[in-house]
Amino acid sequence: MSDCFILLSAGKSKRFKSKYNKQFITYKNKPLFEHSLRTALDSKMFKKILIVSNKKLNFKNADVIKGGKERHNSTQKALNYLRNKKIKNVFIHDAARPNLTVNLLKRLKKELKNNKAVVPYLKSENSVKYKIKNKVNNLDRDKVLITQTPQCFNFIELFNLYKINKEKITDEASLYLQNNKKIKFILGDKNNFKITTKDDLNYLNSKIYYGIGFDIHKLIKNKQLFLGGVKIPFHSGLKGHSDGDVILHAIIDGLLGAMRKSDIGTLFPSNSNKFKNIRSKNMLAPVLRLLNDNNISINNIDINLICENPKVSKIRNKIINSLSNLLSINKNLINLKGKTVEKLGIIGKEQAIACEVICSLTK
Ligand code: ZN
Repeated sequence: MSDCFILLSAGKSKRFKSKYNKQFITYKNKPLFEHSLRTALDSKMFKKILIVSNKKLNFKNADVIKGGKERHNSTQKALNYLRNKKIKNVFIHDAARPNLTVNLLKRLKKELKNNKAVVPYLKSENSVKYKIKNKVNNLDRDKVLITQTPQCFNFIELFNLYKINKEKITDEASLYLQNNKKIKFILGDKNNFKITTKDDLNYLNSKIYYGIGFDIHKLIKNKQLFLGGVKIPFHSGLKGHSDGDVILHAIIDGLLGAMRKSDIGTLFPSNSNKFKNIRSKNMLAPVLRLLNDNNISINNIDINLICENPKVSKIRNKIINSLSNLLSINKNLINLKGKTVEKLGIIGKEQAIACEVICSLTK
């Protein structure tokens, strides 16, 4: 075992647009670069692990050196550092690829027995064009190789190539190709993608949140009953500042809860005349705006409507259709259950209707 794993973690993250280097940004509860470090340690394949970083780090199981201005400067520093340490092969890996697997490391190592350079690649899934001066040309995508890391090399050979190199290179594979050296390309791992922009990270870090909502209103004569935004023929309606729609009020509270945005009373104070007699479906607009502005989507909503009458089975479809329209989500994400209370209490005497809701959201 005389191989070294070099983890390049000194990039300036120009495309990441953050005041922190992306290598230190949290991904799955750990700094980005620690994921590959962990994999390298778990593989037990390396005599030495070398982290190239511009931040002071302290690891028992790895050496840390300061990086250079560009990626190839960092690699050069790493190779110089390893010079007299009897290293046979180096595995050079970008810290921005956190999903490296031991399996890929082992497959690369196997090929190093008969090759001096092994690089993982993916086939292009997109059509590819390239531009020469002002002319855009087609490229046969079956002949396109998208290279990944770790890129693995015989230490001495790479060291010597770096010594004579004067150009800026984006990866070690290009240095090899420039010098007409042979590389063994093996199929990489789709999951071993690179996190380049903040959007990549936000997408990968999407989280699920839950919110609960509850509401109850008294039933009174001479008022129209609204449930889930639907006008329901009934002997009474729900008393309240608004139309008293318990389903919509509970949904609003559930959504606000999942977004950690307080409650419906904060959004629509009942002492404000502005909201008097408001139709509850109009109260949804600011909540939906919050969802939209924060890039949050609804996974599902489960509703318990608690009343003796009206019978939920008779109004279920109408209410689900209405909610699907109001919330702009698919009907199959909404469930409505009816629950009677054995004629107990004011709900049992048809003097009130209650509703409870759970919402799940993804950001
Ligand atoms: Zn209410």
